[in-house]
Amino acid sequence: MFVESDVKLGFNDVLIRPKRSNLKSRSEVDLLRTFVFMHSKREWTGVPVVASNMDTTGTFEVAEALARHRLLTAIHKHYSIKQWDDFLNSHPDILPFIMVSTGTSDADFKLLSEILERHEQLQFICIDVANGYSESFVEHVYKVREKFTDKTIVAGNVVTGEMVEELLLSGADVVKVGIGPGSVCTTRVKAGVGYPQLSAVIECADAAHGLGGRIMSDGGCTCPGDVAKAFGGGADFVMLGGMFAGHDESGGQILERNGRQFKVFYGMSSRTAMEKHSGGVAAYRASEGKTVEVPYRGPIDDTVRDILGGVRSACTYVGAAALRELTKRTTFIRVQEQENRIFD
Ligand code: 5GP
Repeated sequence: MFVESDVKLGFNDVLIRPKRSNLKSRSEVDLLRTFVFMHSKREWTGVPVVASNMDTTGTFEVAEALARHRLLTAIHKHYSIKQWDDFLNSHPDILPFIMVSTGTSDADFKLLSEILERHEQLQFICIDVANGYSESFVEHVYKVREKFTDKTIVAGNVVTGEMVEELLLSGADVVKVGIGPGSVCTTRVKAGVGYPQLSAVIECADAAHGLGGRIMSDGGCTCPGDVAKAFGGGADFVMLGGMFAGHDESGGQILERNGRQFKVFYGMSSRTAMEKHSGGVAAYRASEGKTVEVPYRGPIDDTVRDILGGVRSACTYVGAAALRELTKRTTFIRVQEQENRIFD
């Protein structure tokens, strides 16, 4: 039995070391990035933070709010064609900030094809499975690439460099990285499988950038500082679920308990999601997600500003005038403490 004994790090194991800087204010920091993707050859400019394709965060309402800040939303795969038509026809300017999520079934492929045929200007496809290591997933990425030669394909999730390379070579432009770090994910408990997210990002970014590909860190960010650490570690995009949950624009009803308001948030492999979308949990599988109640947080705009403010601040502390420079200017220090919690 071989046990890898290199230390692997999560966001909580590090802080970003401050560096001399000639930036006067965080307002000078440019968070826009421009990418030209390796297969699609398409150019995209925006702030590379993405709302997760969960049915509570990848909603049209979230997309509308995030697009105003030039952030992306991976729209969940449970909207009908009619809902897509209605939304996109009334919000044509949002198209560059939308990803169409899909799975690997024939029905998923059919719906994806129909959406893209009806709305040709959509650029991004997000092919999402819990385990991106299977041969059939790689074949599916290849099939989507063959049909949609000029779309930008995001595919995942994986956590190791060799699989990032395989997915890029099979047609993905961006590989989604993260197994087990999510706020409502229980894979590490149910399956004992996972990889500390910051190390996954650092290693996968290295593999992807060597080939001209990109990565999206998916899961595990709990605060704006974690988003800054993901970018600092080499993520080109950062996907957020829990941090975008609980808002007016997020899916789900507001509940009231003892005078406080909450919104239900759940993993897409949770019992709640499986009952909603697939008629229950199949006998051969365990649910690998939980259902929680998140305190209601009002409009998502304030949260977006808070996240972008945090990332701008990180850039200012290390002298990065643009988000593009953050990785180059980041040195992580390993720590045994994060914030002071005396007044929690
Ligand atoms: P968060 O930002 O909330 O920490 O993580 C969001 C990510 O968690 C999602 O984008 C997705 O990759 C992952 N995720 C969502 N639902 C589930 C689930 O039910 N089980 C697992 N294992 N991961 C999930």
